[in-house]
Amino acid sequence: LPRLPIFEAIKKHDGKSIAVIHSLSGRTFTYGELVNDVAAAKDKLQKNANGKSTAGERISFLVENGYDYVVTLLSILAAHAIAVPLSPTFPAHELRYIIDQSESLMLLSSEKFQDKADDVLKEGMETSPINYKQEKIMMGKTDDYVTLEEPESDKGGMMLYTSGTTNRPKGVLLSQDILTAQSLSLLEAWDYSSKDVLLHVLPLHHIHGTVNALLTPLFAGSTIEFQFPFNATAFWERLATPFLPSPDPAKKPITFLTVVPTIYTRLLSSHSSLSPELQSASKTALHPSNMRLNISGSAALPTPVKSAWTELSGGNVLLERYGMTEVGMAISCGLSFADRVDGSVGWPLPSVQARLVDTETHEVIKEGEEIDPSTGRERHGEIQLRGPTIFREYWKNPEATAKEFVEDADGKGKWFKTGDVAIRRNVDGAGKSSQDWAHGPLYFIQGRMSADIIKTGGEKVSALEIEREMLSLIQVEEVAVVGLPSDAWGQKVAAIVVLSPEGKTAGRGGRPWSALDMRKALKEILANYKIPQELKVVDAIPKNAMGKINKKQLVKELFGKAL
Ligand code: ATP
Ligand code: MG
Repeated sequence: LPRLPIFEAIKKHDGKSIAVIHSLSGRTFTYGELVNDVAAAKDKLQKNANGKSTAGERISFLVENGYDYVVTLLSILAAHAIAVPLSPTFPAHELRYIIDQSESLMLLSSEKFQDKADDVLKEGMETSPINYKQEKIMMGKTDDYVTLEEPESDKGGMMLYTSGTTNRPKGVLLSQDILTAQSLSLLEAWDYSSKDVLLHVLPLHHIHGTVNALLTPLFAGSTIEFQFPFNATAFWERLATPFLPSPDPAKKPITFLTVVPTIYTRLLSSHSSLSPELQSASKTALHPSNMRLNISGSAALPTPVKSAWTELSGGNVLLERYGMTEVGMAISCGLSFADRVDGSVGWPLPSVQARLVDTETHEVIKEGEEIDPSTGRERHGEIQLRGPTIFREYWKNPEATAKEFVEDADGKGKWFKTGDVAIRRNVDGAGKSSQDWAHGPLYFIQGRMSADIIKTGGEKVSALEIEREMLSLIQVEEVAVVGLPSDAWGQKVAAIVVLSPEGKTAGRGGRPWSALDMRKALKEILANYKIPQELKVVDAIPKNAMGKINKKQLVKELFGKAL
């Protein structure tokens, strides 16, 4: 495939094929319309820049999921500007922070978010030296086919702010080149095609929703059907429709899903409350003969969720992958079911170079050196990455940029320090498919260096590994494991648990499972030093829009301690 900027690539698709569908209204938009509307919107943007070139300028926008969002994003790219997608769910002062930090030339908003945009503009206006323009988008259609400029030394791209799980949001600059490299890598690995129909239910200010679920399928000429915000019943109804006794011919079978683990969890728990007819039709929809690929990522996939999905779908095994705002997708399981090993995120994707750097000795862990000979334990290493898909700088934050990259004596470029820890392990039977990037030892994510690697009494344990084991107990619905400061141990393992319906009656006399019961059960499955010394049962664990737990905040709220 040619290394074209995304908007050049979509011009090559069949103009009559469908690019975008609004699931609720059934409205469809072809690739031909999209190309024309993007070209018209681009002209409008450039006119609005008052004679200033839009090249390399940041343009923030607040637009709901759907066709207008796609037109807005692509028109900013076409104008060689840097698109900064904003989340309408953020409070005005946070949006204002992003607009100011990115020094946006304009804030675009759709009609739906005019009030929000006004609030954002009012926020701290007196102190701001920058005047923003507001622009109602929804560009009229043009009939002429407008040729877009050739992307010579393109200054444009996209800037996503990190979700702020561990830090103040940082602007991650992804140039057109990087976006194209990321799309081509995923295209090769996951085989997107013009035959794919993807149901899109994710927010559009994160890498998962924008690159994996939008730009890459557009690159491939797939159809993207928007259904937002996520609603489990509507989701199941849509999946089932083509397989009902009297299907709606306009609704094609969905072939591709890429969502976060919490969405799979919600889908699984709501399935049994569907009507028998919907239950059966949606099962048919999920069967591997109809549904090509179901992907999970952004947070660790609990094994019970994966198994339940395999069972419900009649054999559709979830594919787990690992990525982050700064690097797009980095490590992924393969298309062959045998390559989707439980607990593993697979192998470095095409054009991604990855290495593990021992968190203790700071040596690169070479293949074959995954076990520490002195302890017999698997070595923990920080994942470090380089290649054409990796970002090169945080916007206007040279200190953070300098801190996160490390030189290599081989002169082939710097490595980005992800801050995530993994182990690597060979697994029999995996890595034998025809996908040549998917072979060798598999990566198993152990969590974030800052929050998930717990040092207790001289032992190093992974919060993610303990969470995985605890989730295998039927009494446990959700769990977050953390390390709390301890005078005796350095850190001690603590777990915050949500009991499952079974767990709520599993204790003596039908009472909820107690900490004592839990400890007894955990003794059977965990080494002593991994068993949580503190167990706290709660009703729910708060998560952000991407289904992530902010452990720092959780520990502060529950234990009044800093992580
Ligand atoms: P911030 O950087 O602002 O603290 P964030 O790291 O949560 O926020 P993202 O870039 O959206 O922002 O998330 C990337 C992180 O998500 C990774 O660094 C990793 O810790 C986690 N992650 C992604 N995929 C997986 C996975 N399959 N298993 C476990 N963790 C994952
Ligand atoms: Mg991060």
